[in-house]
Amino acid sequence: MQWVHWITVFGVVVNWTSASLPAQLPSQSAKTVDYQMEVKMVGDGPTLRGVERVTWRNQTTAPTSELWWHVYNNAWAGRDSVWLTEARGFGDDKLPRAWGNTEIDALALADGTSLEWTWVAQEKAPLDRTVMRVSLPIPVEPGGEVSVELKFTAVLPPAFRRSGWGDSGYFHAAQWYPKLGVFEESADGFAWNCEPYHYLSEFYADYGDYTLNLTLPEKYAGHVVATGTLKSELANADGTVTIAMHAEDVHDFAWTADPKALLEKRRFLESEWRDEVEERKVADALGRSLDEVRPRDVEMILLLQPEHEEYRERYFEATAKSLYYFGLWYGEYPYDTITCVDPANDAGNTGGMEYPRLFTGGVSRGNHERVLRPEGITVHEFGHQFWYGLVGNDEFNHAWLDEGFTTFSTNRVLSKAWPAELQTYQVLDRQFLGRAPLTTPSFSKNETRAWLTLQHALIPSTPWSDSLSLELSHSTSIEAWLREIPVASYLPEVTSDRTTGLLSIHGKDWGQALATPTWNMVSNQLRRTNAYSRPALTLETMSRLMGEARWIRLMRDWHESQRFRHPLPEEFRDTLLRHGEGAGVDWLDFWQQAYHQNPRMDFKVERVDNFPLVVDARNLDSEQGFADSIWHVRVEIRRTGEFRVPVEVDLLYADGVQERHTWDGQAGVWLYELPASTAKVVRVLVDPEHKLMLERNWLDNTWTLDADESRAWNASVRALIWAQQVLHFYGGRG
Ligand SMILES: [Zn+2]
Repeated sequence: MQWVHWITVFGVVVNWTSASLPAQLPSQSAKTVDYQMEVKMVGDGPTLRGVERVTWRNQTTAPTSELWWHVYNNAWAGRDSVWLTEARGFGDDKLPRAWGNTEIDALALADGTSLEWTWVAQEKAPLDRTVMRVSLPIPVEPGGEVSVELKFTAVLPPAFRRSGWGDSGYFHAAQWYPKLGVFEESADGFAWNCEPYHYLSEFYADYGDYTLNLTLPEKYAGHVVATGTLKSELANADGTVTIAMHAEDVHDFAWTADPKALLEKRRFLESEWRDEVEERKVADALGRSLDEVRPRDVEMILLLQPEHEEYRERYFEATAKSLYYFGLWYGEYPYDTITCVDPANDAGNTGGMEYPRLFTGGVSRGNHERVLRPEGITVHEFGHQFWYGLVGNDEFNHAWLDEGFTTFSTNRVLSKAWPAELQTYQVLDRQFLGRAPLTTPSFSKNETRAWLTLQHALIPSTPWSDSLSLELSHSTSIEAWLREIPVASYLPEVTSDRTTGLLSIHGKDWGQALATPTWNMVSNQLRRTNAYSRPALTLETMSRLMGEARWIRLMRDWHESQRFRHPLPEEFRDTLLRHGEGAGVDWLDFWQQAYHQNPRMDFKVERVDNFPLVVDARNLDSEQGFADSIWHVRVEIRRTGEFRVPVEVDLLYADGVQERHTWDGQAGVWLYELPASTAKVVRVLVDPEHKLMLERNWLDNTWTLDADESRAWNASVRALIWAQQVLHFYGGRG
């Protein structure tokens, strides 16, 4: 009400006048490494024999007389690797169908001086051979460089975790060559950051240039895609073909060869994908012109399994929309090509993964166009070009800096660029639009016949329907049968929103803080929570609290200032403090809680009273004792979680007046009293715009004077649907 003078009436007033960000980008990396590789497949594989000439430049301020290397492919050399040992510890005892391994055949300085190497024993797995240490005869001083020649023989496994081959000749080479670790400064001084291949964590390497001359059987001619640009393809007299490839300013190099796959190139033209409203918003927030924020044109390459022809357009469309929105929001995609690999059916383990300039999707047949598969996985894995590829965080320790940012960005692209996704259910192998809020019988192939012959089926009662008894007198299709069942078990058009879907993690264990190193998480579920959903919801909460223009500037600055670098979480904290200023939130306090601690965020309407004013204390037993138009209003909101954050509270009065209050959320209770209100409070909403995506329970954020049956019904249906949300397909992947 208007005479409550102390409240902050909080309109969406955004400060557009902040200093604009410079449009300049560093166009190149520091080029710490240079790899020149000659590699030949032995026969039809899976053995690769190679030589790599690697130059490492010491761009730190400390000397080192060692080089440390990852030999990730040795994770598949036997049960004693760190990866397989840790996997067993997490209850995953799968083994590759056949072993893979990498042998070092020779190692020397460029002048021919041979070098010694040793495998670095790991505490948990002393026989692990995924980290190799090489001693140099003289230290590499700051500003100096060293070049070595390394000969290796790598046997790739049948597609297992991320890399390997399929039976049809599909060959996906990821983490396939000995790769330098990162020499850097940490709290303990300068050292090589060169973790073994862990079950829970991914990769980390320095930027530089790669040249690969790859010799394969000639059936692969015209069927190779890679991190690098293809420069030439020459047929050899011995029935092989040599493909020359080159990439600059990348921190890894992957390639895929598949003789049966379809390969198509298309040009991404930003003019075909413009979203003018979004362009204007970004340009205004950054203080730049439209031309400065529009993405550049890029060549898209798709390697597609022939049986997935139905997805050709959808993969291209998803890649193009990703190039558009990521480029518009975060900065220019600086490379000439982007390649999407649709993995072979028997090599699905290589799907859902990111490498510089190349990512792998994955899809099964028959998806309805309103089901965003393969769009979701395509946007996500593409997204890693920006969060992992260009902003090269240490994935061993801070997976959330790429997975969390990618999950957040993916959901934004999906909601901007496609109509809302529809949920489906599966009967046998067929997909139907709709949603069963109750668990329906499971229709595995063997059970179907038995189930169809039932004469009688009982549907249990629900909060909104009585139990049902159905007589099945004749055989009918399951789909038709499901249509006859009332709404309680079958909702035909249920949209799903992936950001809302992330809320399902509120029901999961959050036992370790975001700051916990990824490789050291105590469970795979915690890794998924802390790398994907939780940081995505945290970013979403930050963005909603600070408003769109600030958020656009923050993300742009974070991306542009960290391109080709290895950012630390504390640098994100500083970016947050810089751009969040003025939004009414103590961001340092927010960061401490969200990153270093593990608090629950939860608010609740505890109690609302409208006391009538007493006018005749002797007559309280009858209505004459009370005034009929003056009320003592009392609203009590509780912070039931430990997370302290400002929260908005909307009060609606019976005369239609609405007030917005902002509570700083510091104390445990917010008490609001109006001793003489001319109208009752009829509704209270805590966090009415759902800014607090970390809020654990929205259902108790609302109070209404007369319980509205239809709303309660809606809420319980929604609650059930949320509860049933499962982590999306790539949740457990890269
Ligand atoms: Zn990912």
